[in-house]
Amino acid sequence: MASAATQSSSHRENGSADLIVLGIESTAHTFGVGIVSSRDPYILADARRQYKPKSGGILPREVAAFFSNVAGEVLAEALSQAGLTLKDVDGIAIALGPGMGPALRIGATVARALASRYRKPLVPVNHAVAHIEVARFVTGLRDPVAIYVAGGNTSILSYSEGRYRVFGETLDIALGNLLDTFAREVGIAPPYVSGGKHAVDKCAEDGRYIDGLPYVVKGQDVSYSGLLTAALRMAKGGARLGDICYTLREIAFSSIVEVGERCMAHTRRDSVVLTGGVAANKVLAMKVASMAESRRARHGVVPPRLAGDNGVMIALTGALALAHGITVRVEEAIIRQRWRVDRVDVPWYPSTLRDLSGG
Ligand code: AMP
Ligand code: MG
Repeated sequence: MASAATQSSSHRENGSADLIVLGIESTAHTFGVGIVSSRDPYILADARRQYKPKSGGILPREVAAFFSNVAGEVLAEALSQAGLTLKDVDGIAIALGPGMGPALRIGATVARALASRYRKPLVPVNHAVAHIEVARFVTGLRDPVAIYVAGGNTSILSYSEGRYRVFGETLDIALGNLLDTFAREVGIAPPYVSGGKHAVDKCAEDGRYIDGLPYVVKGQDVSYSGLLTAALRMAKGGARLGDICYTLREIAFSSIVEVGERCMAHTRRDSVVLTGGVAANKVLAMKVASMAESRRARHGVVPPRLAGDNGVMIALTGALALAHGITVRVEEAIIRQRWRVDRVDVPWYPSTLRDLSGG
């Protein structure tokens, strides 16, 4: 099936084939469709809708119902942004995991249907790999340590022997989840994020560092659930909320940057990228920058639009995979809720989308 991709490639301007891939993201709260090309301007479309719970956390079934409702319009919007039809596309990339089952199933169903109906190769993409690939693409840092921080993920990743390896991660809850849960429990959210700032950032503006919250790093791993519990207990006990927010943020960010730095030292990397939804945080970006500068290393941050979940990162990872003949048969394209990043071969490394058309 992989050869169908190259044969059906669109022929533009100078007659050489560029690869066009449509990617679908539906692992958590965002249903996204992105379209990329292997030639400048690379990103042809980026359409998405995000499920926002009225109160409390996200309910997988509600997300799935929301995704079913918006899938058609998001797809149409992406194609219209790109000025393309499905016939022009060389492959359909789908984030098969990791993520929430009911949400993943909607994206996978749409992707399978499109691949069958339009006879396009279907390309399986791991969501965490995609967060790294979009970071390597936008920052131009080809061989970095990645600090991947999101609503449901917190890990330190770097390439070694054919795969991205986990060099540290949270032992319990993710960084985004820590910030969101604390904000919700103390009544300063939703919305969790507005004007580019998390509710915890706004609350921390008049805060200062206080003693009493635990800083937990075990080997290369961080732990946030004890921090959350202690911070909530302090809030109940009447400590100033601004001070708690400031200190919680300081501890949470410093600990992940600490393990990121140690990974750079041990893997002898001279660059670091920040990716995932929490990469939009300016305070965290500054901490990463100053850590990198102290090591004379380069650093990059994924811009907010591409830091949170999106279809573009799935499409661009799909393009790399497809160019290396990685496809999956429609009947074998099953979702993988706990698909670990270090189970995925990345034979294209260190190429990025920019390398596929030779420039
Ligand atoms: P993702 O799971 O990659 O879509 O990212 C969503 C997570 O990113 C949520 O936990 C958000 O609260 C978090 N997030 C988004 N923007 C910011 C920000 N400026 N500061 C901190 N966290 C953020
Ligand atoms: Mg994500």
